[in-house]
Amino acid sequence: MTARIIDGKALAGVVRQEVAEGVAALVTGGGAVPELAVVLIGDDPASHVYVANKIRQTEAVGMRSRQFVLDAETTERQLLDVIETLNRDPAVSGILVQFPLPSHIDTARVVTAIRPDKDVDGFNPLNVGRTAAGMEDALVPCTPLGVMRLIRSVHADIAGLGALVVGASNVVGRPMARLLLQELCTVSIAHIRTTDLERRCREADILVVATGVPGLIRGRFIKPGATVIDVGITRIRSGSGNEKLVGDVAFDEAIEVAGAITPVPGGVGPMTIACLLANTLSAARMAVARSKAAEADASAAA
Ligand code: NAD
Repeated sequence: MTARIIDGKALAGVVRQEVAEGVAALVTGGGAVPELAVVLIGDDPASHVYVANKIRQTEAVGMRSRQFVLDAETTERQLLDVIETLNRDPAVSGILVQFPLPSHIDTARVVTAIRPDKDVDGFNPLNVGRTAAGMEDALVPCTPLGVMRLIRSVHADIAGLGALVVGASNVVGRPMARLLLQELCTVSIAHIRTTDLERRCREADILVVATGVPGLIRGRFIKPGATVIDVGITRIRSGSGNEKLVGDVAFDEAIEVAGAITPVPGGVGPMTIACLLANTLSAARMAVARSKAAEADASAAA
Protein backbone atom coordinates (compact mmCIF):
# COMPACT_ATOMS: atom_id res chain seq x y z
CA MET A 1 0.00 0.00 0.00
CA THR A 2 1.28 3.46 -0.82
CA ALA A 3 -0.27 6.32 1.07
CA ARG A 4 -2.06 9.22 -0.50
CA ILE A 5 0.05 12.36 -0.09
CA ILE A 6 -1.90 15.21 1.46
CA ASP A 7 -0.91 18.32 -0.48
CA GLY A 8 -0.72 21.12 2.10
CA LYS A 9 0.53 23.60 -0.47
CA ALA A 10 -2.54 23.11 -2.66
CA LEU A 11 -4.95 23.21 0.29
CA ALA A 12 -3.29 26.38 1.59
CA GLY A 13 -3.99 27.92 -1.81
CA VAL A 14 -7.68 27.04 -1.39
CA VAL A 15 -7.73 28.61 2.10
CA ARG A 16 -6.02 31.78 0.83
CA GLN A 17 -8.61 32.03 -1.96
CA GLU A 18 -11.44 31.66 0.58
CA VAL A 19 -9.86 34.40 2.72
CA ALA A 20 -9.44 36.71 -0.29
CA GLU A 21 -13.15 36.22 -1.12
CA GLY A 22 -14.08 36.81 2.55
CA VAL A 23 -12.06 40.03 2.67
CA ALA A 24 -13.72 41.28 -0.52
CA ALA A 25 -17.19 40.46 0.87
CA LEU A 26 -16.43 42.18 4.18
CA VAL A 27 -15.30 45.35 2.44
CA THR A 28 -18.26 45.30 0.03
CA GLY A 29 -20.53 45.06 3.07
CA GLY A 30 -19.05 48.28 4.46
CA GLY A 31 -16.38 46.81 6.74
CA ALA A 32 -12.84 48.17 6.88
CA VAL A 33 -9.99 46.30 5.19
CA PRO A 34 -8.65 43.84 7.83
CA GLU A 35 -5.17 44.68 9.07
CA LEU A 36 -2.54 42.42 10.62
CA ALA A 37 0.11 44.01 12.85
CA VAL A 38 3.29 41.95 13.18
CA VAL A 39 5.83 42.69 15.90
CA LEU A 40 9.35 41.33 15.54
CA ILE A 41 12.07 41.69 18.16
CA GLY A 42 15.74 41.10 17.49
CA ASP A 43 17.65 39.99 14.43
CA ASP A 44 17.07 36.24 14.19
CA PRO A 45 17.32 35.66 10.40
CA ALA A 46 14.71 32.84 10.39
CA SER A 47 12.18 35.07 12.20
CA HIS A 48 12.77 37.84 9.64
CA VAL A 49 12.08 35.37 6.81
CA TYR A 50 8.88 34.10 8.51
CA VAL A 51 7.61 37.64 9.08
CA ALA A 52 8.36 38.74 5.51
CA ASN A 53 6.45 35.69 4.27
CA LYS A 54 3.45 36.41 6.53
CA ILE A 55 3.32 40.02 5.40
CA ARG A 56 3.58 39.13 1.72
CA GLN A 57 0.74 36.60 2.01
CA THR A 58 -1.41 38.98 4.08
CA GLU A 59 -1.22 41.63 1.37
CA ALA A 60 -1.77 39.06 -1.40
CA VAL A 61 -5.27 38.28 -0.02
CA GLY A 62 -6.21 41.96 0.07
CA MET A 63 -5.54 42.68 3.74
CA ARG A 64 -3.28 45.41 5.12
CA SER A 65 -0.22 44.74 7.21
CA ARG A 66 1.85 46.80 9.59
CA GLN A 67 5.26 45.75 10.77
CA PHE A 68 7.13 46.79 13.93
CA VAL A 69 10.77 45.74 14.05
CA LEU A 70 12.20 46.32 17.54
CA ASP A 71 15.83 45.84 18.43
CA ALA A 72 16.98 42.95 20.60
CA GLU A 73 17.49 45.23 23.63
CA THR A 74 13.82 46.32 23.68
CA THR A 75 12.53 46.00 27.24
CA GLU A 76 9.45 44.03 28.17
CA ARG A 77 7.76 47.32 29.18
CA GLN A 78 8.44 48.84 25.74
CA LEU A 79 7.04 45.75 24.02
CA LEU A 80 3.93 45.77 26.23
CA ASP A 81 3.43 49.47 25.36
CA VAL A 82 3.53 48.66 21.63
CA ILE A 83 0.97 45.88 22.18
CA GLU A 84 -1.27 48.20 24.20
CA THR A 85 -1.21 50.80 21.40
CA LEU A 86 -2.19 48.11 18.89
CA ASN A 87 -4.87 46.75 21.24
CA ARG A 88 -6.51 50.20 21.27
CA ASP A 89 -6.17 50.93 17.54
CA PRO A 90 -9.50 50.16 15.84
CA ALA A 91 -7.78 49.80 12.44
CA VAL A 92 -5.82 46.77 13.70
CA SER A 93 -7.76 43.49 13.39
CA GLY A 94 -5.02 41.09 14.46
CA ILE A 95 -1.75 41.25 16.40
CA LEU A 96 1.04 38.74 15.99
CA VAL A 97 4.23 38.83 18.05
CA GLN A 98 6.85 36.66 16.35
CA PHE A 99 8.43 34.07 18.66
CA PRO A 100 10.93 33.24 20.02
CA LEU A 101 11.33 36.36 22.15
CA PRO A 102 14.68 37.39 23.70
CA SER A 103 15.22 35.66 27.05
CA HIS A 104 14.75 38.85 29.12
CA ILE A 105 11.10 39.07 28.01
CA ASP A 106 8.42 36.92 29.66
CA THR A 107 6.54 35.22 26.81
CA ALA A 108 3.50 34.43 28.99
CA ARG A 109 3.13 38.09 29.96
CA VAL A 110 3.29 39.14 26.31
CA VAL A 111 0.76 36.54 25.20
CA THR A 112 -1.62 37.58 27.97
CA ALA A 113 -1.27 41.28 27.04
CA ILE A 114 -2.63 40.80 23.50
CA ARG A 115 -6.34 41.56 23.38
CA PRO A 116 -8.08 38.18 23.03
CA ASP A 117 -10.21 39.34 20.10
CA LYS A 118 -7.03 40.41 18.20
CA ASP A 119 -5.00 37.37 19.26
CA VAL A 120 -4.64 35.75 15.82
CA ASP A 121 -2.06 33.26 17.13
CA GLY A 122 -4.66 32.00 19.63
CA PHE A 123 -2.18 31.83 22.54
CA ASN A 124 -3.92 34.22 24.98
CA PRO A 125 -5.23 32.16 27.94
CA LEU A 126 -8.78 33.30 27.17
CA ASN A 127 -8.56 31.80 23.68
CA VAL A 128 -6.92 28.67 25.09
CA GLY A 129 -9.93 28.30 27.40
CA ARG A 130 -12.44 29.10 24.67
CA THR A 131 -10.81 26.50 22.39
CA ALA A 132 -10.87 23.94 25.20
CA ALA A 133 -14.56 24.67 25.77
CA GLY A 134 -15.31 24.42 22.03
CA MET A 135 -16.64 27.98 21.89
CA GLU A 136 -17.28 29.40 18.43
CA ASP A 137 -15.64 32.76 19.11
CA ALA A 138 -12.27 31.20 20.00
CA LEU A 139 -9.27 32.22 17.95
CA VAL A 140 -7.56 28.84 17.56
CA PRO A 141 -3.77 28.45 17.17
CA CYS A 142 -2.90 28.40 13.47
CA THR A 143 -0.96 25.13 13.20
CA PRO A 144 -3.60 22.90 14.84
CA LEU A 145 -6.30 24.74 12.87
CA GLY A 146 -4.42 23.94 9.66
CA VAL A 147 -3.96 20.32 10.71
CA MET A 148 -7.71 19.92 11.25
CA ARG A 149 -8.31 21.18 7.73
CA LEU A 150 -5.73 18.71 6.37
CA ILE A 151 -7.41 15.85 8.25
CA ARG A 152 -10.83 16.92 6.94
CA SER A 153 -9.46 16.72 3.38
CA VAL A 154 -9.12 12.97 3.98
CA HIS A 155 -12.02 12.17 6.34
CA ALA A 156 -15.56 13.52 6.04
CA ASP A 157 -16.20 12.52 9.66
CA ILE A 158 -13.62 11.66 12.31
CA ALA A 159 -16.02 11.07 15.21
CA GLY A 160 -15.12 7.86 17.00
CA LEU A 161 -11.68 7.50 15.43
CA GLY A 162 -8.69 6.97 17.69
CA ALA A 163 -6.23 9.89 17.56
CA LEU A 164 -2.78 10.14 19.08
CA VAL A 165 -0.97 13.46 19.30
CA VAL A 166 2.76 13.04 19.89
CA GLY A 167 4.04 16.25 21.49
CA ALA A 168 2.33 18.27 24.18
CA SER A 169 3.44 21.87 23.61
CA ASN A 170 1.07 24.79 24.12
CA VAL A 171 1.65 25.83 20.51
CA VAL A 172 0.81 22.55 18.80
CA GLY A 173 0.21 19.37 20.81
CA ARG A 174 -2.25 20.51 23.47
CA PRO A 175 -4.53 22.64 21.28
CA MET A 176 -4.36 19.89 18.64
CA ALA A 177 -5.67 17.34 21.12
CA ARG A 178 -8.48 19.70 22.18
CA LEU A 179 -9.62 20.20 18.57
CA LEU A 180 -9.62 16.46 17.87
CA LEU A 181 -11.63 15.89 21.05
CA GLN A 182 -14.07 18.56 19.91
CA GLU A 183 -14.65 16.45 16.77
CA LEU A 184 -15.31 13.43 19.04
CA CYS A 185 -12.13 11.52 18.37
CA THR A 186 -10.87 9.33 21.20
CA VAL A 187 -7.71 11.28 21.93
CA SER A 188 -4.43 10.45 23.65
CA ILE A 189 -1.36 12.64 24.03
CA ALA A 190 2.19 11.29 24.10
CA HIS A 191 5.28 13.25 25.16
CA ILE A 192 8.90 12.82 26.10
CA ARG A 193 8.09 10.69 29.17
CA THR A 194 5.53 8.45 27.44
CA THR A 195 6.43 4.78 27.55
CA ASP A 196 5.89 2.33 24.69
CA LEU A 197 5.39 5.02 22.06
CA GLU A 198 5.49 2.48 19.23
CA ARG A 199 2.52 0.48 20.55
CA ARG A 200 0.48 3.62 21.25
CA CYS A 201 1.15 4.97 17.76
CA ARG A 202 0.10 1.69 16.18
CA GLU A 203 -3.36 2.01 17.78
CA ALA A 204 -4.06 5.41 16.21
CA ASP A 205 -6.31 5.95 13.20
CA ILE A 206 -5.06 9.55 13.14
CA LEU A 207 -1.47 10.21 14.18
CA VAL A 208 -0.32 13.82 14.59
CA VAL A 209 3.37 14.22 15.38
CA ALA A 210 4.90 17.47 16.67
CA THR A 211 8.12 16.82 18.56
CA GLY A 212 10.99 18.30 16.55
CA VAL A 213 12.77 14.89 16.65
CA PRO A 214 13.60 13.95 13.04
CA GLY A 215 12.53 10.44 12.04
CA LEU A 216 11.10 9.61 15.51
CA ILE A 217 8.11 7.79 14.02
CA ARG A 218 9.20 4.75 12.01
CA GLY A 219 7.07 2.89 9.49
CA ARG A 220 6.47 0.02 11.92
CA PHE A 221 4.88 2.49 14.41
CA ILE A 222 2.01 3.20 12.02
CA LYS A 223 -1.34 1.44 11.90
CA PRO A 224 -1.96 0.29 8.31
CA GLY A 225 -4.20 2.82 6.57
CA ALA A 226 -3.80 5.50 9.27
CA THR A 227 -3.74 9.22 8.49
CA VAL A 228 -0.36 10.65 9.49
CA ILE A 229 0.21 14.37 9.95
CA ASP A 230 3.83 15.40 10.39
CA VAL A 231 4.11 18.83 12.01
CA GLY A 232 7.83 18.59 12.74
CA ILE A 233 10.29 20.77 10.87
CA THR A 234 14.00 20.39 11.43
CA ARG A 235 16.72 21.85 9.23
CA ILE A 236 19.50 19.33 8.66
CA ARG A 237 22.60 19.24 6.51
CA SER A 238 22.38 16.45 3.93
CA GLY A 239 25.33 14.30 2.76
CA SER A 240 26.04 16.75 -0.08
CA GLY A 241 26.34 19.61 2.43
CA ASN A 242 23.05 21.24 1.39
CA GLU A 243 20.45 22.11 4.01
CA LYS A 244 17.09 20.41 3.86
CA LEU A 245 13.92 20.30 5.96
CA VAL A 246 12.85 17.03 7.52
CA GLY A 247 9.86 16.02 9.61
CA ASP A 248 9.38 13.83 12.67
CA VAL A 249 8.15 10.87 10.60
CA ALA A 250 10.43 8.57 8.57
CA PHE A 251 8.53 9.43 5.40
CA ASP A 252 9.92 6.72 3.07
CA GLU A 253 8.88 4.00 5.54
CA ALA A 254 5.59 5.60 6.58
CA ILE A 255 4.32 6.05 3.04
CA GLU A 256 4.33 2.25 2.61
CA VAL A 257 1.99 1.75 5.59
CA ALA A 258 -0.16 4.84 6.08
CA GLY A 259 -3.41 5.58 4.23
CA ALA A 260 -2.60 9.28 3.88
CA ILE A 261 0.40 11.34 4.93
CA THR A 262 1.65 14.93 4.84
CA PRO A 263 5.09 15.58 3.34
CA VAL A 264 7.75 17.87 4.84
CA PRO A 265 8.04 20.43 3.40
CA GLY A 266 4.72 21.08 1.69
CA GLY A 267 2.34 19.67 4.31
CA VAL A 268 1.52 21.47 7.54
CA GLY A 269 3.86 24.46 7.06
CA PRO A 270 1.93 26.23 4.25
CA MET A 271 -1.37 25.65 6.08
CA THR A 272 -0.10 27.44 9.20
CA ILE A 273 0.31 30.78 7.43
CA ALA A 274 -2.93 30.33 5.49
CA CYS A 275 -4.73 29.81 8.81
CA LEU A 276 -3.12 32.96 10.22
CA LEU A 277 -4.81 34.84 7.38
CA ALA A 278 -8.10 33.04 8.11
CA ASN A 279 -7.81 34.01 11.80
CA THR A 280 -7.16 37.65 10.88
CA LEU A 281 -10.31 37.64 8.75
CA SER A 282 -12.27 36.00 11.60
CA ALA A 283 -11.03 38.68 14.02
CA ALA A 284 -12.08 41.42 11.58
CA ARG A 285 -15.52 39.84 11.09
CA MET A 286 -16.03 39.58 14.84
CA ALA A 287 -15.06 43.25 15.25
CA VAL A 288 -17.67 44.24 12.63
CA ALA A 289 -20.31 42.09 14.37
CA ARG A 290 -19.47 43.69 17.74
CA SER A 291 -19.72 47.22 16.41
CA LYS A 292 -23.06 46.42 14.70
CA ALA A 293 -24.36 44.95 17.97
CA ALA A 294 -23.19 48.06 19.86
CA GLU A 295 -24.93 50.33 17.33
CA ALA A 296 -28.15 48.28 17.63
CA ASP A 297 -27.97 48.51 21.44
CA ALA A 298 -27.40 52.27 21.26
CA SER A 299 -30.36 52.85 18.93
CA ALA A 300 -32.59 50.58 21.07
CA ALA A 301 -31.64 52.63 24.12
CA ALA A 302 -32.25 55.97 22.36
P1 NAD B 1 8.28 21.88 21.69
O1 NAD B 1 9.74 21.63 21.80
O2 NAD B 1 7.67 23.02 22.41
O3 NAD B 1 7.51 20.55 22.16
C1 NAD B 1 7.94 19.28 21.76
C2 NAD B 1 7.04 18.25 22.38
O4 NAD B 1 7.48 16.98 21.90
C3 NAD B 1 7.12 18.19 23.90
O5 NAD B 1 5.81 18.03 24.44
C4 NAD B 1 7.97 16.95 24.19
O6 NAD B 1 7.58 16.29 25.40
C5 NAD B 1 7.65 16.07 22.98
N1 NAD B 1 8.77 15.18 22.66
C6 NAD B 1 10.07 15.50 22.47
N2 NAD B 1 10.79 14.39 22.22
C7 NAD B 1 9.92 13.35 22.25
C8 NAD B 1 10.09 11.97 22.09
N3 NAD B 1 11.26 11.40 21.85
N4 NAD B 1 8.97 11.18 22.19
C9 NAD B 1 7.77 11.73 22.45
N5 NAD B 1 7.57 13.05 22.62
C10 NAD B 1 8.64 13.84 22.52
O7 NAD B 1 8.00 21.94 20.12
P2 NAD B 1 6.74 22.56 19.30
O8 NAD B 1 6.80 24.02 19.31
O9 NAD B 1 5.49 21.87 19.67
O10 NAD B 1 7.17 22.09 17.82
C11 NAD B 1 7.33 20.71 17.51
C12 NAD B 1 7.82 20.60 16.08
O11 NAD B 1 6.85 21.17 15.20
C13 NAD B 1 9.12 21.36 15.78
O12 NAD B 1 9.85 20.64 14.80
C14 NAD B 1 8.62 22.66 15.17
O13 NAD B 1 9.58 23.25 14.30
C15 NAD B 1 7.42 22.18 14.42
N6 NAD B 1 6.41 23.21 14.17
C16 NAD B 1 5.96 23.32 12.90
C17 NAD B 1 4.99 24.24 12.61
C18 NAD B 1 4.48 24.34 11.20
O14 NAD B 1 3.89 25.30 10.84
N7 NAD B 1 4.69 23.28 10.40
C19 NAD B 1 4.45 25.07 13.61
C20 NAD B 1 4.91 24.91 14.92
C21 NAD B 1 5.89 23.96 15.19
